[in-house]
Amino acid sequence: MSGPSENDILEALEQVRDPDSGESIVQRGMISGLVVKDGNVGFSIEVDPARGPELEPLRQEAEQAAEKVKGVLSVSAILTAHRGAGQGEGGQSSAGQGQGAPQQQAAGQQGGQQARQLAPGVKHIIAVASGKGGVGKSTVATNLVLSLSLLGLKCGILDADIYGPSQPRMLGITGRPQSEDGKILKPMQNYGISCMSMGFLVAEDAPMIWRGPMVQSALQQMLRDVEWGDLDVLVVDMPPGTGDAQLTMAQQVPLSGAVIVSTPQDIALLDARKGLNMFRKVDVPVLGIIENMSLFVCPNCGHESHVFGHGGAKTEAERLGCDFLGEIPLNIDIRETSDSGRPITISNPDSPHSKAFAEIAGKVRDKLFQGTQKAAPKIVME
Ligand code: ADP
Repeated sequence: MSGPSENDILEALEQVRDPDSGESIVQRGMISGLVVKDGNVGFSIEVDPARGPELEPLRQEAEQAAEKVKGVLSVSAILTAHRGAGQGEGGQSSAGQGQGAPQQQAAGQQGGQQARQLAPGVKHIIAVASGKGGVGKSTVATNLVLSLSLLGLKCGILDADIYGPSQPRMLGITGRPQSEDGKILKPMQNYGISCMSMGFLVAEDAPMIWRGPMVQSALQQMLRDVEWGDLDVLVVDMPPGTGDAQLTMAQQVPLSGAVIVSTPQDIALLDARKGLNMFRKVDVPVLGIIENMSLFVCPNCGHESHVFGHGGAKTEAERLGCDFLGEIPLNIDIRETSDSGRPITISNPDSPHSKAFAEIAGKVRDKLFQGTQKAAPKIVME
């Protein structure tokens, strides 16, 4: 199938000029993440964050220029804060600076002044990740954040799962986040948890191809342009997998640590190992592995079966030198409650499953607030 090429688009964008310098935005190296697929075009325009709001006309002009290229069906351009332009943009990881030191302190020291900081009132941001989809990452993330909140911590969840944002459904949230000033969004709320989801920002029917490039700036927006307020813990429900998008995310968010969710299947464990390595690569401390769907207890007779094998995650965690945080059984109540917006930890806090989540949450809290995790060196994106 023939269609416009990247070069065709760049040629068209060549004509668009940065209002400040008068130079072409292509010449100035402001275009990044250009994707052209079957006539659908997406790219970011990297700008100084301080100039962001006034450059909306530039973004539109660039979109229109690309739309004129023969064969182009759709164009989606976004403004991204350009790398190194200010703090909070380069993906510093400020984890583990001892006792819950607000991570932004470190970020603030680094970067000169400028645009709003990434979630300045949040003490710890942690990622919940999995090597592949369908292992119950979102279910665990929801119940974990609720359990942390039941322990008395003020919590939020940022649903960054571009491929299947599910937090609004799991937390029983409908509607759209509102903004009073047109700039800062108020997170949605339920069960005392503040929630922002990629699902609110990326149209559900947006072609998948957009999601990769879009996610990078959207994620920063969800940290910077959302009124998170003062939170003890913000849980990020990451997209499944360990590709470039996930790696970039892990770099861009100042993470205090990561939790990896795995099923006991070997194959999933191989994937879990990839997840672990990904975080290690970017010096984000792995707080531990959670084995999900570890054991099936027959609701009729109480018989226990290890549908996917058992204990693999624990053994693997030991082998890999990371902590095993606990196991969550395969149970229909967990599925039904999460899928209907009343997660088990809230709807039935006394159930053994909720207790398992509470125990895991306790370990995570201790690691975050008792300074037991290793300090993560800062990451600087070139
Ligand atoms: P992921 O985020 O890894 O793609 P989800 O959290 O969306 O996975 O879970 C996939 C499905 O599995 C959902 O329907 C969810 O309710 C179900 N599920 C997750 N964990 C469990 C569990 N421990 N027991 C039963 N069902 C579960």
